[in-house]
Amino acid sequence: MEFALDSISPDERRELERNVFMGTLEQLKAWARSNSLWPLTFGLACCAIEMMGTGASHYDLDRFGVMFRTSPRQSDVMIVAGTVTKKMAPLLRRLYDQMPEPKWVIAMGSCATAGGPYVKSYAVVNGVDLVVPVDVYIPGCPPNPAALIYGINKLQEKIRYEAKTGRRVTIR
Ligand code: SF4
Repeated sequence: MEFALDSISPDERRELERNVFMGTLEQLKAWARSNSLWPLTFGLACCAIEMMGTGASHYDLDRFGVMFRTSPRQSDVMIVAGTVTKKMAPLLRRLYDQMPEPKWVIAMGSCATAGGPYVKSYAVVNGVDLVVPVDVYIPGCPPNPAALIYGINKLQEKIRYEAKTGRRVTIR
């Protein structure tokens, strides 16, 4: 392939590089999926306000192909934003199980990541990863919209990276 490319002009080479996409079908699907993430909203406490703000017009998550859904059947990402109580945990798990594969989870904020300020409460789960597998952890109390956007960008990179390498990674 290198030999064939060496024999063409620089202009032709530039055109080829701009217009020819090479990769596997899995990489193509990952590229499409990563640019069309549909999160199931899971606002549980104050972090949810930041999540809602991120979806609104100022930060405009739509520009990344991120559109919130209200049904787990239409969602491929769960953004857990807030405090996960022991009472809520089984419902969270049930909704996660209702999401079709492939699916991902973002733990947004200290509470969802590890219990946050309520870590010693008898009523709080110390991290949503005790209930569902988490792909991206976003620290903060609460994380601001820029942090959530950064986390979503990291999830997009992770989806593409995993399709390319076949290795599973967690973003912390
Ligand atoms: S991490 Fe902080 S802001 Fe977010 S839900 Fe917990 S207490 Fe509220």
